[in-house]
Amino acid sequence: FDMFFLAFVERLFRPTFKKDDFVLGKKLGEGAFGVVYRASLTKKPSSKKEGDFVLKKATEYGAVEIWMNERVRRACANSCAAFVHGFLESSSKKGAEYWLLWRYEGEATLYDFMRSKEFPYNVETMILGEVQDLPKGLERENRIIQTIMRQLLFALDGLHSTGIVHRDFKPQNIIFSEGSRTFKIIDLGAAADLRVGINYIPKEFLLDPRYAAPEQYIMSTQTPSAPSAPVATALSPVLWQMNLPDRFDIYSAGLIYLQMAFPGLRSDSGLIQFNRQLKRCDYDLIAWRKSVETRASSDLRRGFELLDLDGGIGWELLTLMVRYKAGQRISAKGALAHPYFDREGLLVLSFMQ
Ligand code: ADP
Ligand code: MG
Repeated sequence: FDMFFLAFVERLFRPTFKKDDFVLGKKLGEGAFGVVYRASLTKKPSSKKEGDFVLKKATEYGAVEIWMNERVRRACANSCAAFVHGFLESSSKKGAEYWLLWRYEGEATLYDFMRSKEFPYNVETMILGEVQDLPKGLERENRIIQTIMRQLLFALDGLHSTGIVHRDFKPQNIIFSEGSRTFKIIDLGAAADLRVGINYIPKEFLLDPRYAAPEQYIMSTQTPSAPSAPVATALSPVLWQMNLPDRFDIYSAGLIYLQMAFPGLRSDSGLIQFNRQLKRCDYDLIAWRKSVETRASSDLRRGFELLDLDGGIGWELLTLMVRYKAGQRISAKGALAHPYFDREGLLVLSFMQ
């Protein structure tokens, strides 16, 4: 079959929606570029009352987000929340307003789980199926964190293999899908598609500085005058400068791994302080460890202990992700093949069968 034919048939049979088809429920989020609601179909009273869908009303950036979600649905559907439909709602008085619809995946993001004192135990039965036959402690926490990391890297690998860089990878943009019992990526509002060259010419305000790799700053100071609208170009010169742009997300994934290992880094202030310390160490994680370890709190020491399990294989993986030079960071595929995941891989495979 021809790819275009398949896409055409898929398009033909997929339901399309319009504004009046939905009743809005609870507001789930509000950012500078849109508002997100839970929503349900008006014409389907049998559907769950709280809503089977998530609806984002977005500003002009919604166009690119629709593009990214369409691409993802065809190329790597398992990586992201299931996209249903996207359209331009032009009747709005506010001008162009894009409506984007996803299937409602579940009530909690990784951020919500990590905010609880129970983390990572509050994720355990959800992703591993049952409570493990292990006493509470580092070993068990490590296993849960390992499983989360594998799911995150698996989702990132799907995106990156498709040629998409997320650029806003953080716990708030990772939803737990109750149906598939996996973490999935959401919010492709700042993503770039490198194969077709569609992206916002990077605007630093779109990126979250807490999770952004250092090249963000290099990039923004070297961009003379960025156009304000989404533009399609052959590979943009800015992306060209960014060698291996997928490694931008890997840096963010490394920071998430760090936050899972160190409860003290989960808060905003903790993460910001860590970023400052790491910068002072010229983004050398080993130097950072040396600088904090001597006067480390018990909380920090416990984190290092977790990363040092199994001969320090977790710490090694972390140092391959959080590096100053993008080109020296491991890829998502490379990380998945790292020995850190060996033992756990067997465990999860046997669970899935
Ligand atoms: P924003 O641009 O406001 O960051 P997001 O796409 O990140 O928009 O969505 C905002 C919030 O809505 C998320 O943090 C999450 O809590 C919730 N959400 C988004 N998509 C889904 C989904 N498919 N299923 C369940 N909740 C979702
Ligand atoms: Mg978001």
